[in-house]
Amino acid sequence: MVTTPLTNLQARDVATVLHPYSNLATLPQTGSLILERGDGVMVYDVDGKSYIEGMAGLWCNALGHGREELVEAAAEQMRKLPFAHLFTGKSHDPAIALAEKLKEISPMNAAKVFFCSSGSEANDTQMKLVWYVNNALGRPQKKKIISRIKAYHGVTIASASLTGLPNNHLDFDLPLSSVRHAACPHHWGFAHDGESEQDFSKRLAAELDAQIEAEGPETVAAFIAEPVMGAGGVIVPPEGYFAAIQPVLEKHDVMLIADEVICGFGRLGEWFGSTVLGMKPDTVSVAKALTSAYVPLGAVIIPDWIDEALTAQSAKIGVFGHGFTYSGHPVAAAVGLKTLEIMERENILAQVQAITPHFQKRISAFADHPLVGEARGLGLVGAVEVVADKASKRAFDPRKAVAAKAVAFAQEEGLIVRAIGDAVAICPPLVISESEIDELFERLGRALDRAQ
Ligand code: PLP
Repeated sequence: MVTTPLTNLQARDVATVLHPYSNLATLPQTGSLILERGDGVMVYDVDGKSYIEGMAGLWCNALGHGREELVEAAAEQMRKLPFAHLFTGKSHDPAIALAEKLKEISPMNAAKVFFCSSGSEANDTQMKLVWYVNNALGRPQKKKIISRIKAYHGVTIASASLTGLPNNHLDFDLPLSSVRHAACPHHWGFAHDGESEQDFSKRLAAELDAQIEAEGPETVAAFIAEPVMGAGGVIVPPEGYFAAIQPVLEKHDVMLIADEVICGFGRLGEWFGSTVLGMKPDTVSVAKALTSAYVPLGAVIIPDWIDEALTAQSAKIGVFGHGFTYSGHPVAAAVGLKTLEIMERENILAQVQAITPHFQKRISAFADHPLVGEARGLGLVGAVEVVADKASKRAFDPRKAVAAKAVAFAQEEGLIVRAIGDAVAICPPLVISESEIDELFERLGRALDRAQ
């Protein structure tokens, strides 16, 4: 691939902006793709070149770009009351209405909603609640949280600890000592030869059981899981996985935290991925599509028993000492409410269910591509994983960065997708049409051909 000289804007960018999740050593040579505007599932760079947004931004822009109603909801709220907080006995209508709506659609018996501004803050809050509530319940030794290898839960100190990816720990002095990681439920990647999905699920549940026993069940408080693992490479759990895991958690009185930051709000065709995959969460983290990413917003949905423990602690110590300046920001809450209203009015869940077979058929077809070891997905999210040898599943030498090359070729072809190790992830806006899906996969096919 030829590296062209940086434009003036690119040069100013690399000189001033510290880019998340980028190779800071090579970015000054390659430069950034500088986007200017969006319309539906398309985005346009500063030179006017168009791209299909095959990642919905970062798995978040569910309704696509150019939704005037969301802009109006934000503008109207900004005119009326651009800021108000929820601290010390204050509240406002957008936060109340959004909490009511989230309770109504929640995949568990929800009591209250705690607002924050991101998925990381939601999972950070989850960890603090686990600790605080177990202290409140008089079991101060029950504090460990088990996550999974390849999980992605965010980048704050707690949520990065829960994340099960080496780059989020290495040299950051993480994970925290109370976090453990269980096996990754990737059948293609980790099942034994000839092991069925059901048997793999049963083995992982038995391993989790043994892990909790070894830690001491009285020390293990929670298990956190994404319904489909996203940023770890789009890993769909094997048949029967959560059905096998759930009784293990119940046996040891370990609560289940569902991280619905990617799967929530229609990605798998229901409001929540938990419902699709048979998870019975105690609490839920949400963010991203809650506002279709027009403004930042996250939330933690909690059940009665946690709410009661928090209330009892306040009776004892006087205050629930947690919350962000922007918890329940009225503009974000107004945009969140409008997003959910549009999703209901436009039957987005039914639309995702209707278009999913076509999307998944197009992904599955890549299983025949010479570079692809596995083509996988669920709902409107998927990935193709490149391999050096299909039969043995031998991986490419990481220095070849084949998936990253395919993604760079895709960009040249006018498609934005994301490389995660050897996987190329695809997660378009939920409003993508059949013909746009076809065009997305035509461009991806050309990019993979060029990466061979
Ligand atoms: N949880 C999941 C499942 C995610 O995919 C992400 C982000 O991709 C997060 C948490 C962290 O969210 P944020 O980047 O908004 O902090």
